Amino acid sequence: MKIFIPTPLRAYTDKKDTVDVAAATVGDAFAQLTTLHPELRPQLFNIEGKLRSFVNVYLNDDDIRYLDQKEATHVSDSDTLTIIPSIAGGSASAVAELAELPTLSNDEIARYSRHLLLPEVGLEGQRKLKAARVLCVGTGGLGSPLALYLAAAGIGTLGLVDFDVVDASNLQRQIIHSTKDVGRPKIDSAEEKLKGLNPHMNIIKFETMLTSANALEIMKDFDVIADGTDNFQTRYLVNDACVLLGKPNAYGSIFRFEGQASVFGAKDGPCYRCLYPEPPPPGLVPSCAEGGVLGILPGLVGIIQATETIKLILGIGEPLIGRLLLVDALGMNFRTLKLRKNKDCPVCGTHPTVTELIDYDQFCGILPKVDEAPVAVKDGISQLSVEQLKQKLDAGERPFILDVREPHEFQIVNMGGYLLPLGEVVARLVELEEHREREIVIHCKTGRRSQDAAHILREAGFSNIHNLAGGIQAWAEKIDTSLPKY
Ligand code: ZN
Repeated sequence: MKIFIPTPLRAYTDKKDTVDVAAATVGDAFAQLTTLHPELRPQLFNIEGKLRSFVNVYLNDDDIRYLDQKEATHVSDSDTLTIIPSIAGGSASAVAELAELPTLSNDEIARYSRHLLLPEVGLEGQRKLKAARVLCVGTGGLGSPLALYLAAAGIGTLGLVDFDVVDASNLQRQIIHSTKDVGRPKIDSAEEKLKGLNPHMNIIKFETMLTSANALEIMKDFDVIADGTDNFQTRYLVNDACVLLGKPNAYGSIFRFEGQASVFGAKDGPCYRCLYPEPPPPGLVPSCAEGGVLGILPGLVGIIQATETIKLILGIGEPLIGRLLLVDALGMNFRTLKLRKNKDCPVCGTHPTVTELIDYDQFCGILPKVDEAPVAVKDGISQLSVEQLKQKLDAGERPFILDVREPHEFQIVNMGGYLLPLGEVVARLVELEEHREREIVIHCKTGRRSQDAAHILREAGFSNIHNLAGGIQAWAEKIDTSLPKY
């Protein structure tokens, strides 16, 4: 009969995956196996000669682990015995089997000595980390601490997905990038920093936006996906792709002073859609670029994601599967909520309706981007480009400039306009009466709030008004580059 040897135990059978024995009973078969390969004996049996409790034995397709007198069970030549050891911790230690784990060089042993001293990690755990392949989606606020700590911890292969370039406004929190990197692609800057931290690792760069067309192909060879993105389209895309591929997703998100973390997409655990079946309507939840974020917060949350990733690889502790961790940096409170898997979940439920990746822009209500040729009129409001405003000023025209941003934004940078925050325009309209007959150019940071203000003025009977398209950001970018951007 044939005995199938699992990968972890092949180290003791001269790498053989099957061993042929001629036996009448299961006990007999094991006796012959351990006679042929004596080193297997202590792996399979305890001192009393009993099969160890973490070893499963299948006779053909039947689990005979709990069978009394299993040793006496009769077998014939056509039967097969399969040995299946359980893996400690039971969680998604999706990395290669023990015998296939890479070895560590002396340099690596010295580098990881504080890990090797932990029995929960040890040499075997460190080899698992080296074998592991983790994909970081985004190298921004969350991706920075995530990738740095994973690199330091000895993750063997780190994939990085980003298409952005480093901007000065990133450096307040995206600590993987430096001042000298402004203008460089983020993945190049991240690679340099990570290689400097740990030259033993492999880095695979994907300088692209993650899309429905490429996500499965990019993600399929990684063991754990760490979602460090900043928009709902990509969050749902990463979630669905993880569920479809059966890969755990170390999730983290941040806004202003609050963060969330969880592990989605694990076997039997809930996914992001179980928690949030539908995205909020576009514009309801502002992005960090509009609403701001406390710089250290992504540090806090990204390190939680890194911790979960490492636990998943080592198969130790209790991962955040089925739990949502809420981080409140102002109150410095951490709360965990229980999450249930939704059996009606469209992607991970019992009857999934999402069986392939969809159009996530459409799902999140994002309208397809049209090439933004400068428009002269939008919703009945005249739109002025910054170039046109410059021409007017150069020609000696003196339109009344109305700035509808907040006072703290005005303090950062202004173009000498009259400050009247959007929220106060209605109540303080009287202040504009004396300029009613003048040409009025309204601006904010990017042109969105000023468009709303223009509507209010039009309702109030002002006729000669323009919205400054692109706002003061466009002005600072194209006309007066001495001005700061924020
Ligand atoms: Zn789900």
